[in-house]
Amino acid sequence: MVKSQSSVRSRRSPRHQIQPHIQLNQASTQSSDSQASSVGDRSSGFLATVPAPPASLQHRLLAWYQREGRVLPWRQTRDPYAIWISEIMLQQTQVKTVIPYYDRWLHTLPTVHALATADQQQVLKLWEGLGYYARARNLHKAAQIIVTEYQGQFPPTFEQAIALPGIGRTTAGGILSAAFNQPIAILDGNVKRVLARLVALPVPPAKAIATLWELSETLLDADHPRDFNQALMDLGATVCLPKQPLCDRCPWQAHCRAFALQLQTELPMTETRTPIPRKVIGVAVIWNDQHQILIDRRKQSGLLGGLWEFPGGKVEPDETIEACIQREIMEELGVEITVGDRLITVEHTYSHFHVTLNVHHCHYVSGDPQPIECDEIRWVKLDELEQYPFPKANIKIIEALKAAPIPTRDSYTAHPS
Ligand code: SF4
Repeated sequence: MVKSQSSVRSRRSPRHQIQPHIQLNQASTQSSDSQASSVGDRSSGFLATVPAPPASLQHRLLAWYQREGRVLPWRQTRDPYAIWISEIMLQQTQVKTVIPYYDRWLHTLPTVHALATADQQQVLKLWEGLGYYARARNLHKAAQIIVTEYQGQFPPTFEQAIALPGIGRTTAGGILSAAFNQPIAILDGNVKRVLARLVALPVPPAKAIATLWELSETLLDADHPRDFNQALMDLGATVCLPKQPLCDRCPWQAHCRAFALQLQTELPMTETRTPIPRKVIGVAVIWNDQHQILIDRRKQSGLLGGLWEFPGGKVEPDETIEACIQREIMEELGVEITVGDRLITVEHTYSHFHVTLNVHHCHYVSGDPQPIECDEIRWVKLDELEQYPFPKANIKIIEALKAAPIPTRDSYTAHPS
């Protein structure tokens, strides 16, 4: 469908002063718009004009990618398993963080069979520190499905791939285009930002997802889908940066509406976010007379499922940290403890809340520990802790434990609750 440049519009009022309809027409003198096409969904209210013939944008981007594309380990292979692992690790995580995890993972679990037959604890240990642990649990489950239903071969169709645990639309596109050169579009966070700027999207990307998908599909070079998708990711990660885009180095600068309007640092528009809550948690490092520490394994479902932790819970209003710890340990494990000195306070942020972990040394008094609110409990020595997968915030507790002297019984008398 061929439309004029003026077809970029929103039926809702833009949140700030962009006035996209009028200003985009001014920008159009920079684009060869005679062949420009529109994408989007009238029913949702957003139509975006592709600011130049897709072939021109493809050519510019691929030429740039040949010169400037990053050399990354998962680009040196066509193995769908390795590419799948990289795509899952790269969700919510930067490349430089992922590379050592990727290398270690493939060294330890080099095939889908190796992953399918691995113990979940080994899988979580390999993932330790990467966060969003459902990704690791889903990789494990999906590997078992691939072995039992697809003879160990990663399924080559979009419908099969997206049906696997942990694989959404953009991840399926990333894997199938990179591994099999299939012409399937992607739309991760970086790509949303690039495309939103390219067309000067007058609303936050979350309000125009269908339009952005259609734009990504329209721009995709069906003859070079692997390189095109990788190039688009690189453009977002290295040039079209969130705060200060490097427009002078951008192959799409001549066609970019945000650049033409000098709105590149204001776009994409953002949603107004409500502040995320803070939870204050009391945490117990419970020692017995054999200098062992009691740890528990979280239930499979929910946040950090399957990982080990030091037990504890949320501080109630008007409750002291010490009283909270004693109450939680009785409720969760059925044991009585004495609460002693503070070991460390750890601040950590998850996607939807902050936590403050107030960690105290504690001493076991009585009761047979029961896994009432968890899947398993164990007494372990300090130097055995690193064998278990822990969340990042708990790793800081382990580091503090290693740096501190083991408490004596006398140190538990100072803090009656
Ligand atoms: Fe992003 Fe600037 Fe390139 Fe536009 S010109 S796509 S804002 S880097």
